[in-house]
Amino acid sequence: MEDRRERLVRRVSAEMTRIGHPLSPPVEASLRSVPRHLFLPEGLWPAAYDNAAQLIGWGQTISQPLIVALMTELLRPRRGDAVLEIGSGSGYQAAILSGLVERVYGVETIPALAAKAAERLARLGYDNVRIRQGDGRDGWPEHAPFDGIIVAAAAVELPPGLAPQLRTGGRLVIPLGGHRLSQDLFVFEKRADGTLDGTSVLPVAFVPLV
Ligand code: SAH
Repeated sequence: MEDRRERLVRRVSAEMTRIGHPLSPPVEASLRSVPRHLFLPEGLWPAAYDNAAQLIGWGQTISQPLIVALMTELLRPRRGDAVLEIGSGSGYQAAILSGLVERVYGVETIPALAAKAAERLARLGYDNVRIRQGDGRDGWPEHAPFDGIIVAAAAVELPPGLAPQLRTGGRLVIPLGGHRLSQDLFVFEKRADGTLDGTSVLPVAFVPLV
């Protein structure tokens, strides 16, 4: 598994360079350290280090490693940050963030996935991550403001509840678009006047935010 993971990291690194977002050393180290197979059902372990999304049950997916890497870079995580992730699914993206920031808060709508992700992250020692079941469009007001917000499911437009929970200068990464399995990944930065400045980065394919 270690060899396969190393090959995947090299491949993701090459792809990130190709799309104009070279991997930073901390994000690369985090990709290298998280055992992605342990976020998948055992039957999928042979495919765990393919650069591909995989089904994790309940009609949901664990994102493609390249996209996890890209979303993480777009967030520009720093050591002291508090980050909110919406659509925690397997918990893999949360684990990648765990080693890069101070605290990670994940919201997942499907109760069984939320419970499994929380249990798995605790068992693997990612003790700065908290997962709750709920509708992520409401964010997690008790822990706001966040330095960054990652939305791992596609919305037609920005859920209005999120920007108020973002700190000035903070970044919000979200796939936006009306088509199932075809959207654009956007990164927004919150200006001092409270408005958001957004850029489209890459066409992507996410499951919908419900
Ligand atoms: N980040 C995940 C990938 C998640 S796929 C990982 O690393 O494995 C998107 C997830 O968003 C799914 O698990 C889906 O159930 C969840 N989701 C969809 N709509 C949501 C909502 N409104 N609030 C919270 N989670 C939501």
